[in-house]
Amino acid sequence: MKRRTVITVGPLLALFGMSAVSHKLLATDAPLKPLDSSQPTAKALSYVDDIADADPAVYDQSSGARCDNCLHYRDTGQSRGGCAIFPGFSVAPQGWCKGWVKKS
Ligand code: SF4
Repeated sequence: MKRRTVITVGPLLALFGMSAVSHKLLATDAPLKPLDSSQPTAKALSYVDDIADADPAVYDQSSGARCDNCLHYRDTGQSRGGCAIFPGFSVAPQGWCKGWVKKS
């Protein structure tokens, strides 16, 4: 490998390595606890287990936004998924919170 290639590719490989490590740290096998909407962060973000229960003052029912179409949602193959905003907790696919970001 030429020196120029090492200089160009080296930092990219380092980034991929860091990404793999951080992904591994986030992808824990520990069981997720169902997120309680009264948990302080959940409350601050108006989390609900079902969008039907969302406060119309903070949630637009016509938006179609829900956990399972949120960028932060991780399918676990179970009835509830993981969420990057609430590590260690599971969220309902039909849930929602103010942290919702459209999955592209
Ligand atoms: S960030 Fe997304 S996946 Fe997480 S609770 Fe909020 S809407 Fe659901």
